[in-house]
Amino acid sequence: MSSHAKQRTCIVCRKTDTKQSFLRVVRTPEGQVELDPTGKKNGRGAYVCGIACFEKAIATKRFDSALRTKLTEDDYGRLKSDVLKTL
Ligand SMILES: [Zn+2]
Repeated sequence: MSSHAKQRTCIVCRKTDTKQSFLRVVRTPEGQVELDPTGKKNGRGAYVCGIACFEKAIATKRFDSALRTKLTEDDYGRLKSDVLKTL
C-alpha cells in the first residue's frame, strides 16, 4: 500500500477511489495521448473507474475535454487496443 494513495475521480460516473484498478489516460508533454498502466507518466491525466466507463468515455469523447485536447481516430484506436491488453 502506498502511503499517499491519491484519490482518483472517474471522468464518466464521478466515482472516487484510490484503487489501482482505475485506468489512467495521459496526455504527455509531447501531446501524445496514451494509456498509462503504471500511473506514473508525466502529463495531464484522466481516470476512468473501469472498462465500462472507458467505453462510455470513448463513445462520448469525454477524454477530449478531460485532457483538453482533440483525440484523433488513431488515438482512440490505440487506446482501445491498449486497454484490451490490460484485461
Ligand atoms: Zn466510472
